[in-house]
Amino acid sequence: MEKRKLMYEGKAKKVFETDNLELLIVSYKDDATAFNGLKKGSISGKGIINNKMSNLLMQRLEKNGVPTHFVEEINDRETVVKKVTILPLEIIIRNISAGSFSKRYGVEEGITFETPTIEFSYKNDELGDPLLNSYHAIALGLCSKEEIKIVKKYAFAVNKYLKAFWASCGVILVDFKIEFGKLSDGTIILADEISPDTCRLWDSKTKEKLDKDRFRRDLGGTEEAYAEVMKKLCGHIREDI
Ligand code: ADP
Ligand code: UDP
Repeated sequence: MEKRKLMYEGKAKKVFETDNLELLIVSYKDDATAFNGLKKGSISGKGIINNKMSNLLMQRLEKNGVPTHFVEEINDRETVVKKVTILPLEIIIRNISAGSFSKRYGVEEGITFETPTIEFSYKNDELGDPLLNSYHAIALGLCSKEEIKIVKKYAFAVNKYLKAFWASCGVILVDFKIEFGKLSDGTIILADEISPDTCRLWDSKTKEKLDKDRFRRDLGGTEEAYAEVMKKLCGHIREDI
């Protein structure tokens, strides 16, 4: 599989067309942004970790009933994925209060919820990814009623699986953002990435942050935290085999 034309360059990844109309190659960069692109920087080695982590997690989700865009990892930073039309929605699941939830509702970080929450943002940088509910998403024509039902079902299934999986690696899955897309026949699959850029991951014992919050909040040790959480995941996978 060869890269052809650059189709899109985003904040964290480049997306290339291939000789197969139904497949793309995603190339993960070390570039990091936060606060809707206002804060810019680089996390050395991030692209490699995010590529590998996302692929390992998506393959496990696929085996557990969640269809994904993953096809084949071709090198440290690049992966062949199924081309989809991305639903312009960010789906956020939370198990524990943190980030914008804590800010919006005036609660401390670290409160464990009895049941996980789901929220949606309209994927639109110009508008600053505004929060919306499923009725708004349908009214705006971002997806159909049936599609949002499937998205919700898969999103909770992703959380159920990943929460248990990360726990077995000694990591707490606090919250995460995922994206779904549609194949040409309309099938909804999980796309984009699952990585420390898109999840809050805390060390189960020390509660240390092992994710992008280290970059967002200038906590230092960002590279080390990404490497640490990848090590925990790989260590667990080795024991698992
Ligand atoms: P952003 O667009 O937010 O800057 P990225 O740098 O991660 O984000 O760019 C990757 C882009 O590719 C995202 O807009 C994402 O929605 C899109 N994408 C992810 N997976 C697929 C896929 N399988 N098919 C088509 N587009 C995808
Ligand atoms: N998130 C993301 N991309 C976004 C916004 C959020 O990947 O554009 C992830 C973020 O890493 C966290 C979860 O979604 O794991 C919830 O983020 P939150 O709403 O708390 O926003 P933030 O604090 O990042 O502004």
